[in-house]
Amino acid sequence: MIRTHTAGDLRLSDAGAEVSLAGWVARRRDHGGVTFLDLRDASGSVQVVCRDLPNIHALRSEWCLLVEGRVTARAEGNVNPNLATGDVEVVATTVTVLSESEPLPFPVDGVDEIDSGVDEMLRWKHRYLDLRRTGPARAIRTRAQIVSVIRRVMAAHGFLDVETPYLTRSTPEGARDFLVPVRLRPGEWYALPQSPQLFKQLLMVAGLERYYQIARCFRDEDFRADRTAEFTQLDVEMSFLDEEDIFGLTEELMATLWREVLGVELATPFPRMTYAEATRRYGSDKPDLRLDLELVDLTEHLRGTQFRVFQADHVGAVVVPGGASYTRKELDAWQDWAKARGGKGIAWLLVPDDGGELRGSVTRLEPELLESLPKAAGANPGDAILFAAGPRRRTLDMLGALRLAVGRQRGLLREGEWRFLWVVDAPMFEPTDDGGWTAVHHPFTGPTQEWAQTFQDDPEHALARAYDVVGNGVELGGGSIRIHRAEMQQRVFDVIGLTRDEAQSKFGFLLEAFRYGPPPHGGIAFGLDRLAAELVGTDAIREVMAFPKASSGGDPLTGAPTPITAEQRREAGIDARPE
Ligand code: ASP
Repeated sequence: MIRTHTAGDLRLSDAGAEVSLAGWVARRRDHGGVTFLDLRDASGSVQVVCRDLPNIHALRSEWCLLVEGRVTARAEGNVNPNLATGDVEVVATTVTVLSESEPLPFPVDGVDEIDSGVDEMLRWKHRYLDLRRTGPARAIRTRAQIVSVIRRVMAAHGFLDVETPYLTRSTPEGARDFLVPVRLRPGEWYALPQSPQLFKQLLMVAGLERYYQIARCFRDEDFRADRTAEFTQLDVEMSFLDEEDIFGLTEELMATLWREVLGVELATPFPRMTYAEATRRYGSDKPDLRLDLELVDLTEHLRGTQFRVFQADHVGAVVVPGGASYTRKELDAWQDWAKARGGKGIAWLLVPDDGGELRGSVTRLEPELLESLPKAAGANPGDAILFAAGPRRRTLDMLGALRLAVGRQRGLLREGEWRFLWVVDAPMFEPTDDGGWTAVHHPFTGPTQEWAQTFQDDPEHALARAYDVVGNGVELGGGSIRIHRAEMQQRVFDVIGLTRDEAQSKFGFLLEAFRYGPPPHGGIAFGLDRLAAELVGTDAIREVMAFPKASSGGDPLTGAPTPITAEQRREAGIDARPE
């Protein structure tokens, strides 16, 4: 046994013990004949005192050491209350160098916050050094804790952990697939799964009834700060259920995680809101309820106006409490903000405190409409009204973002609070660019009761038995009750323009399985990285991945992806045509 104790766990009660520790030099300080080392291992660090030991001055940061010595209580004035081991130090009798370290590309001691300001490429390239820092290491530990809580809760409810293939064929989430050539069948390719969706449904046909998996998913999407090509889901499916089963399980999972990881009691059950209400009131299908501010719909009020700006499919507004004091510069900043988001701009109206004249970019509105506008918008004297107008969906999106920006700017978003909700009854379909329809969730999602017979006649308004769980404005999970009848499935394929042959060639194996007594079933998938990021308190999902890819794509550590040789290309059958 190399060591008898771990450095970070030594306490006053260990005083007098002869110990052997192993770890890294976090810091070295020389005081005359005495050298102090902070020795760090996975448990934390402890101060080591070296008196008259040979070669101590040669030790450098991040050298790996074995230290033998005796734990001693620190003298009164030397106690460090900021360090868990601050009551003691270890007086070394021998120090053995296990390995030396070259100077590091960035400091790892004393910069504990997750984002240290060091360039992301450098951090991921040397992630094994980055993870020597307390903050990043804590994020990875928290993720492990989350996974163990999840497994415990799922097992307690009788869910089986089942692995499904990574080398498979296209799954229905609608992103681009990563493809893998197959040497032994030149010209044929596997797709990496975008989720285990089809397999988990097959497991329900198989009669396993309760499945879960912590599964890697692969989606070849454009690079974005909060997206990565591979990510992890907690994937769940169950049979003979309704929404309440999924909601209850999810609420228990979330409440347990928040309690055990953060010591926070979440209020359950989570409130439920329809998709229509969420978009109308908050301009978002994942509303952040820490902010009370709601959108105002002025479309009816302004119908028939001659004022061009407001002749639109939808006119809405955000009322900014106290915003009448906005300066010209602040109002210009909102224009820039809107343009940066691809909008035309933000119209504005200031409602003065003193009952004085209304000022703004919309004062050429018909006088009676203008005068009644503050009341219609629910604005008080001293407020500002910020307007957006245009096609309904795009305008609500813009207003939803504006609501959050205003909330943050005015300090109205209650930091430190946790507000969860379910968003239910999402649309089943959305229009495609070429005038057709595509499934919003995926094509195996069932319609709500009232749309069961008629969704095909009015795809625009048909609602799905789909649900998302949202926490503080972040979508943490989503799923649906599935279709398990061939006839209904066929109607969905008809709406999204999937011919029988196409359906057969894409999902034939699932449709075939559904010929053998499929049970009613449904499920949900949680973004594990996102969940962990929330619990760790970071916006960046990469911080809870041990070896993340850069936001510009690629893995700075291994250098992947790399070109292949002509030989590899030939052997993998990349250019071969299937026989
Ligand atoms: N497979 C779905 C997804 O990845 C989740 C589900 O419907 O269970 O979004």
